Amino acid sequence: MEKWGASLYGDPCDGCGFRWSLTPPEAIRIVEELPARFRALLAGCTGYERHPDLAWTPAAYVSHVTDNLRNWAERLAGARLSGAVDVPGYDPELVAQGRHYNEIAPSAALWSLELAVDAWAASAAAALHAGVVLRHATRGVQRAEDVARNNAHDGHHHAWDIERILQYTDAG
Ligand SMILES: [Zn+2]
Repeated sequence: MEKWGASLYGDPCDGCGFRWSLTPPEAIRIVEELPARFRALLAGCTGYERHPDLAWTPAAYVSHVTDNLRNWAERLAGARLSGAVDVPGYDPELVAQGRHYNEIAPSAALWSLELAVDAWAASAAAALHAGVVLRHATRGVQRAEDVARNNAHDGHHHAWDIERILQYTDAG
């Protein structure tokens, strides 16, 4: 079984400090605040900066968070609308390669994120209300609230990654 959540990252997360005990409404709030948060982070840079330990640029992390939210919003919708609770793993690196994240205009990445967050928040709230429970191929049971926490952590963690990139380039 694949590790995920607190067992993978630690509680709080060893990197970004995310606390996994937060409630589902708090997780939704974190995701809803991501567009403003990322917009503020990218306001002080080109979006194309690099950190030697990190594969992606600040704008690429925005695109990753967007695609992750779209993916999980769709999965929650599939379970709620048609009972499709069995979901596979997916490879974010392959998505990144296919979409060439590092070449997407930062302003376009932010535009996409706003739309994805709106769709995700609606899908997550509906899934929580309906008591959706997914069966993930490698993680096992994933309740809607687990998905909400995982997705909130992904955004929070990558905001921290962007801060690391900007601290590195400021110092360099
Ligand atoms: Zn983290």
